Order: sequence, then structure tokens, then C-alpha cells
Amino acid sequence: MSISIEGITKNFGSFQALKDISLEIPDGQLVGLLGPSGSGKTTLLRIIAGLETADEGRILFHGEDVTRLHVRERRVGFVFQHYALFRHMTVAQNVAFGLDVLPSRERPSAAEIRKRVGTLLEMVQLGHLAQRYPAQLSGGQKQRIALARALSMKPQILLLDEPFGALDARVRKDLRRWLRALHEEFHFTSVFVTHDQEEALELSDQVAVMSAGSIEQVDSPQRLYARPASRFVFDFLGQVNVFKGQLEGRELRQENAWVHLPEGFSSNSLQLYMRSHELRLQSAPSAYAHLPFRIDSISLVGAEVRLELSPVGWSTEEPWGVGITHEHFNSWQPSRGDQCYAVPQVAHVIEEGAAAPHTLRWEQGEMDDPAAMI
Ligand code: ADP
Ligand code: MG
Repeated sequence: MSISIEGITKNFGSFQALKDISLEIPDGQLVGLLGPSGSGKTTLLRIIAGLETADEGRILFHGEDVTRLHVRERRVGFVFQHYALFRHMTVAQNVAFGLDVLPSRERPSAAEIRKRVGTLLEMVQLGHLAQRYPAQLSGGQKQRIALARALSMKPQILLLDEPFGALDARVRKDLRRWLRALHEEFHFTSVFVTHDQEEALELSDQVAVMSAGSIEQVDSPQRLYARPASRFVFDFLGQVNVFKGQLEGRELRQENAWVHLPEGFSSNSLQLYMRSHELRLQSAPSAYAHLPFRIDSISLVGAEVRLELSPVGWSTEEPWGVGITHEHFNSWQPSRGDQCYAVPQVAHVIEEGAAAPHTLRWEQGEMDDPAAMI
């Protein structure tokens, strides 16, 4: 079932929590609402659910206006961050709850409810815990029960508000994979709120990035990462290294550091944004970039070696982080305190006043001195 969000505005007193939000969610998609705390994600989700009313705008499910429908009539499933299970009920009773309280003419028979609960518990792989109480479950198990309960009403729309927020990293990863598989199998349309970029990018078909009550960008994870439409989106999708300089001829310069740029930039004051894998490290500067650094720390844990760098003879607001392969690290063998040079392979130029960054790519070896390679 598709969801159309049309021009939704919501005020709390004089505070505008949502500013004219529009978003199309096609049938069967899993859409992530990503944004910092306070950006309006929960408010938007509650308006989709019918738990909150909008001041302006409409919500349509499969083309039908549901703006005035009560939460019960919208037939959506919810999962919240805090498990919200009934403590005095067993797992099976919790999952059956929504069905048990239906008016008698809509309620399936007791046998049918038992059967459906059994199926749902098998689906979340917790059939063996049916007679336990919530206090006897781990956090991850409680969230799976909450999900089974949300699915008991056979919703075509599932809304999840930071469902894994309170769990530890390992369990979160398992549950993510599992939610994705469930989504694929049952084809409901899901809206998933998170403030965790990795979670949003891994799970979603589309991600809507929110900031201060507005949607900054809606795109596939791949496009969002490759082409962030604004500086906010850039900053929000992980650590970024920033070089601020003044354009002198074709050189963007700050103190003794500079990067040679192609023609076509009009403003004097530019910033280059580079992610940790968009830079190469060398023992000598290249012909098109002179960015000297000292190595502050080296972290060997993970798929790549992460170096933290502080500028030498120029300044950055934050230290830079660069990831190199273990292979490169082993052949180079740098130590803390060593000097090195960063060479951009890709950089995103942000001009004062320009809406979107402009992405530059340097071809391997272009304007470069091969002797400088480590
Ligand atoms: P998020 O889920 O992205 O953290 P919320 O949607 O919960 O953000 O909140 C967005 C903004 O609206 C916040 O500044 C929050 O304080 C405010 N807000 C949310 N609900 C209420 C409410 N019932 N009354 C007043 N302000 C609220
Ligand atoms: Mg929230």
C-alpha cells in the first residue's frame, strides 16, 4: 500500500515541528526517515499513524485520503523504541492482544487466534518462548515480540520508531538483517525512523534526510551517499574532512596548504569536503595538492587502518581521518608522529551560497608525480 504525504505542517504552540513536508512512498518500499534528534521524525511518523493530527496537509494510503481517519481505522502496525509489551501477559498473550480486543464481529475464533499467534512467533523465531513473560526476555527478543504483535493485525503499513535504538550494536545488526528479510517476504510498506546513518543506508530502499522540520533530500542510499544535495546531508552521513581556503588563481590555498582546482569556480571562499576513503596518503606532496599532516593516531581494528591526522603549518576545525588498506599500511609502516601528505582523489566543492556541492574527480596519476607514491 503506497503512502502519500502532502504538504504536512505541524506546530506545537509557536514552534513549527514540521514545515510543509511532502513525500511519496511507493507500495512495498522500506523508507528510512533519518535525522538528528528533534528534527521531527517521530512527529511525522505519528501523523502517518493517526496518533497526531497535522495542522495542514493530507495523508493518503493507496490514493485514499486518511487524514481524518482514527488511528484504529488506519490499520497500521507500530513498533516503538521502548518495547511497550504488557508485563503481566505472556509472550503469546502479548502477540494476541490486538486480536483479543477486536469487537466480537471482527474477532477471529479463539482457535484461529492461537494459530495466528503460533505462526507469528515462528516467523520471529521465538515459538519456544510463548509462555514466558517480558521480564524473562532479552532486549532483542522483546523487540521481535513487539514486531510480531504489530504484524498480528496483518497491517499493510508498518511504522517503526527507532526500534533498535536501545539495543547493543551486535543485536542491532542481526535485527536489521532480519527485518529486511521479513519485509521482503511479506511486502508491507514500511517507514523506519532512525538517527543512525548506517542503519538507514543499510535497510532502506529510499532515505529521507530530515533537518529542523524539513526534508533535505530523498534518495536511494547509493545516490544519497554519492551525491549529497546539501552540506547538512554531507555532514550527517559520516565523518568528513574539510579544507577551507581562498582561491588564488587556480589554487585553493590556506597558509602553506593548497589544492589545484579546475577552472570554473567564481567565489573566492571555497571548502573542499572529502570522505576518509576519498584521500590517498603519500610520503611526498603530489603536483596538484600540498596538504601536509602529522599522524596523531593509528587504529588497526576493522577492515581498514584508520589514521587520525593533524595539519602541519595550516589548520582544520577537526582532525582529519583517513582509511588505508592493511596492505598499504604494512608496506608503508608509518608511526605516530610521522609526517605525510594527503592527496584527494575525489573532493566535493562547496561554494558560498551554492545549493549543492560540485564533485571533482582526479584521474589516477593526472597532474601527479608517480615518484611521490608510497
Ligand atoms: P525526533 O523524533 O526527530 O527526535 P520529534 O518529532 O520527537 O523529533 O520532535 C520534533 C520537535 O517537536 C522537537 O523539538 C520536540 O521537542 C517538539 N515536540 C514534539 N512533540 C511535542 C509536543 N507534544 N509538544 C511540544 N513540542 C513537541
Ligand atoms: Mg523521535
